[in-house]
Amino acid sequence: MKILVADYILTCDDDFRIIKNGAICFDKKIIDIGETDKVIKNNPYAKIKYLSPNSVILPGLINTHVHLEFSANKTMLLYGDFIQWLQSVIKKRDKLKEKCNFACYEKSIDQMISSGVVAFGAVSSFGDDLKACVNSPQRVVYFNEILGSNPDFANQICSDFTNRLERSYDASNDTFIPAVSIHSAYSTHPFICDFALNIAKKNNLLTTTHFMESKAEREWLDSGSGDFLNFLKTFTKNPKPMFTPLEFLNKFKDLNTIFVHGTTCKQEELEIISKIGSLSHCFVSNRILNNPLLNLKNVNDANINLSIGTDGLSSNISLNMWDELRSSLFAHCDNDLCALSKQLILSATKNGAKALNLLDNTELSKGKNADIISIILPDMVEDINQLPLELILHTKSIKSGYINGERYV
Ligand SMILES: [Zn+2]
Repeated sequence: MKILVADYILTCDDDFRIIKNGAICFDKKIIDIGETDKVIKNNPYAKIKYLSPNSVILPGLINTHVHLEFSANKTMLLYGDFIQWLQSVIKKRDKLKEKCNFACYEKSIDQMISSGVVAFGAVSSFGDDLKACVNSPQRVVYFNEILGSNPDFANQICSDFTNRLERSYDASNDTFIPAVSIHSAYSTHPFICDFALNIAKKNNLLTTTHFMESKAEREWLDSGSGDFLNFLKTFTKNPKPMFTPLEFLNKFKDLNTIFVHGTTCKQEELEIISKIGSLSHCFVSNRILNNPLLNLKNVNDANINLSIGTDGLSSNISLNMWDELRSSLFAHCDNDLCALSKQLILSATKNGAKALNLLDNTELSKGKNADIISIILPDMVEDINQLPLELILHTKSIKSGYINGERYV
């Protein structure tokens, strides 16, 4: 049993309580949290660690959307246009796969670890990242991905998916959870989509899908025209949209789904997402691929559970969550700075935990998982209301991190 004492504890509870001069006592779970004197008095046998001045304790961060299999990319892909990027991914896919060995996966995971990520949702296209994810100290929701628009190959695609899913089941444990990803509405035939979603339903698995990432996707699903038409002609003779946007959303109505991006969603679609799942915001990826900026007002009006994803290094330069949070903070310039900072911190903690169904990770309170990180700010904080902002502005790495009460950084 340990006690950590810090200048501030950001609980991320429903009142967004910040405890000044606070302490947290834990083993695998949080046993006590509050003012330092009381916590020490209540738990006399715990080993006490006083963190340095200007220390902040908060729940470990959650990255709800990452593709580790493209981690070898630095400058190999084309940016600035979604379709051009997609074409370059297809062209360079084998080379990128080949370049990402076990050390490459570990390096990517380490980048998340040092930034304080205690749990992440990994979308896996090939299963090559399985071992690295299983070996990681973090909680991993492992989304086995399926896609394919040609029904002639459906049997082969479904059997490959089932094999990968089974391999992830064999590896599953308390911190490694198999799940299902449908790549997108433009890339997945309804038969293939139903096949995977039925398995998810039967086994109560979390699901995820890219949805309304680009203007091209909007145009294609709405009217079967635009840049996607030419792109899809390279795969199918006479391509037509396989779903309307609402038909696609409807497929997920009895599941718990993380919809990713949503930058070109209509309000009606955001309202549906709010009811059947959550939304993962990947700002840097959206910017690099020249996709629109997510409209936070519309997302908040729809009362959506919004989490943060870095996406993969195929469309980002960093898997450090603080880099992602800083970029997002600078991007949404119509929003009040302090209110946005608070929303971003909650998106990267509580909301991410809810999205990945890690309900014991939502906040720092008695009985929750001891998945805790500490950060040392460069100086004292003038105004406690600015604490979330200062954290986002100044943090590059954490001082210490605990998962299930065990120190991992
Ligand atoms: Zn993605």
